[in-house]
Parts: sequence; structure tokens; C-alpha cells
Amino acid sequence: MTRTLKSVVDLQTMNPISWEDLLNAGDRTYNQIRRRATQSKQSGTARYVCAQCGFPVYAPLAPNKRPYWKHFAGAPVDCPWWTGDPNSPDNVSAQQFGGQQEGALHHKIKYLLEEILLEDNEATDVAVEEYVLSKDGRRRPDVSAIYCGVRTAFEIQLATTQLPVILAKEAFYESHGIRLVWVTWDFQNRPPADIRQSFLDIYFSHDENLFSLDAQSVAISTANHSLTLRAHAYRDNEWKSKLVSLREVSWNPSGLPYVYPTTDPWHVEFEKRWVPCRKRYDCDYQREKELLLELSDRLNTDLSPDDWQSERLPSLLDIMYSLQAGRPLMTSQDNLFGMSNSFLDTSDCLKFAKIFEFSARRFDQDQVLKRASVAKKLKAAESVVQMEKNTPVSLAVRLLFPQLLSANNRPKP
Ligand SMILES: [Zn+2]
Repeated sequence: MTRTLKSVVDLQTMNPISWEDLLNAGDRTYNQIRRRATQSKQSGTARYVCAQCGFPVYAPLAPNKRPYWKHFAGAPVDCPWWTGDPNSPDNVSAQQFGGQQEGALHHKIKYLLEEILLEDNEATDVAVEEYVLSKDGRRRPDVSAIYCGVRTAFEIQLATTQLPVILAKEAFYESHGIRLVWVTWDFQNRPPADIRQSFLDIYFSHDENLFSLDAQSVAISTANHSLTLRAHAYRDNEWKSKLVSLREVSWNPSGLPYVYPTTDPWHVEFEKRWVPCRKRYDCDYQREKELLLELSDRLNTDLSPDDWQSERLPSLLDIMYSLQAGRPLMTSQDNLFGMSNSFLDTSDCLKFAKIFEFSARRFDQDQVLKRASVAKKLKAAESVVQMEKNTPVSLAVRLLFPQLLSANNRPKP
């Protein structure tokens, strides 16, 4: 399999030059590029770099006399466009690129970011590679600043940062109350399956958003005196993207920005909203009613919130979500035994004994069933008629806990 180095960045203009551009360039332009690449190697200042890994490249001719892009020797072998070490007379070790061979693009973006932030009225204390020191270690963000009053680290992600490094940085900044923005260069939308894992890793850090700079966003940042990034997110089977000033983004609880909220499956969204509104000391009846109406809509039934209440669905959901979490979520009880006992002490809930038992097993909470007090109540419930299939409550459980009932996940009898 031959791989094509599809696009490079001209570090002088920050514009991309694709392999098609190179193919279609006339003799004069091609030879200009060819000479510049070689001169840059001789002077130790990279001119053209791979748009994926940021490593310097040159533009030799293939045996068929067509020009193509090729990494200089020493490029990271995990670059998706890695073209093998050169063996032509053009071969010159990238050691010659001063200290920049680790990533000339990385180096360039770092100082571009600094320049932009120095001009941004919301940014103060802008610094490049300044240590953040603490008892538990130190980190040196590519660029840091106080942005909108909050200390913020900017880390450039090209193609090479590995997940353990990413997670360690995120944990460090979060524990020090420092916000973190991962920035890529000129991100090209592709189907998620074709995106490098190192991009997906930061994509998931940012609640499934990705931020990149490119020649246009740099120009807009400079013109507006406001750092402007391009935000990307894969939603509804397609990539969305837009330019956004860093002042306007939202920040997740870990201190990473996002623009497009994640869209979880409906049952996950329901759970996320249900649990907080059922907190014993902070319940939100209005919200709860709305959620129950939404559930009726989904199931195409006319049941009102009061109907669901008299069916005891809320109590069933509370205990099931708690079993799933392995701890009581809505009450101040500190263990599941207490919560399970209260649940089974409610005579209207005894019709749920079987689904309770099934859920406890499925969510690996068998110890709850073994507790004598719980076992006794389950025994007593054997004479009670159990919830039947196709009742609204049973359909609601199927809808809200699809993983519970999927064939692969059935507990062994
Ligand atoms: Zn590369």
C-alpha cells in the first residue's frame, strides 16, 4: 500500500498546499517549491511541513516524473501519511532542522497563538512554555494566559500526542483549576472512522468537539483582536463546524470548552435529567412532570404525570437507576440495602419485585438480594401478582433501560 502525503503547510503563509496543487503546479512553481524546501533544510528553518504530523517535508519527483510530497528522514512513523524514510539523493537527515525537527508546525502554531493572545483584550499574562509548578508535579503548556479572568492552558495537538499524556495533562490542569484548550491545525472533516485516534482522544475530552486554527481563523483572530477557533462536531451523521470566539464557548465541568453539546441517546438524556430532579431535598416537581409527559409522548400513551405516579413508576426508576449506579442516587441513605428495604416496604411496589431482582443481578448488586431483610421481602412478594409485559410501566422500563433487556446481556439463570 502506498500512502500519499496529501497536504502540507507552507510555514511562511500558513496556507495548505495539497498534493494535487503540487501536481498541477507548473514547472516554475514546482521548481520554486523544490528549491525552497532544500534551502530550508540547509538553513535549518523548515518551510513546508506535513499537515498531519508537522514534520518538515520536501518535494521530490517520482520515477514517473511527477512531483510528490515526502517527509524528511526521521518523521514520526505513526503519521498516517508516513511515506517511508527517503532513500534518494535528496535524503538529508532532519537533524539539520535546528531544534525544530520535533515539529516545525507545532513550533509555528505556538508562537502564532501567543501573538494572537497578546492582541486579545480578554487575555493577560500570556506566556509560551512557562512551567506551572505544584507539589504534585509540573507541566509546561505550549501557551498559557489568563483568559476572561481564568487561567487557561493551550496545548497543540498535531498527530503525535498519546492518550496517557493527554489524560495526565487534563488531570493536572483540572486539579489546579486551570482551563485547557486542545488546538489542532486545519482539521479536515472526514468520517470518524478515518480520523486519527489522537484527534478522537481530544475530541472526546472536549465533549465531542474539536477546535482548530487555520489560515482563515488566524486572520479573523488578528483582525478582531479575539482568539477565534474553528469548532467541529460530528452530529446527526455529519460534521458541523463554525468559527467561534473563545469568549463565546461553553466550558465543561473539567474546564474544557465545547460549542456543540453532545447528544446522547434519548434514554441517557432522560436519566441525566431525571436523577437531579428527584433528589430528596432538592426535588423539582415541575421538571419531573415534564419528563413524565415526555415519556408518555415517546410511548404514545395518554398517561398523565399523576397516572405514572399512581403506577409507582418514579419509585421504580429511582431504585433502578440507583442499582445501576451501585449507590442510592436520590436519597440521603448511604447504602442500597436501606433504599431497597424502603422500596419493598411500599406495598404498591411489590409488583416490581421481579424486575427489582432482575435489575440487581444485571447491575452486579447481588449482595443486596442476599441481605436477609431484602430476601425476606422478596419471598413475601412471591404471592403478589407481578407487573405484566406490555403494560405502560413495563414498556417504559424497556425504553429507559435498553441495555438491561438486550439479549446479550441477560444474566445467567
Ligand atoms: Zn506527517
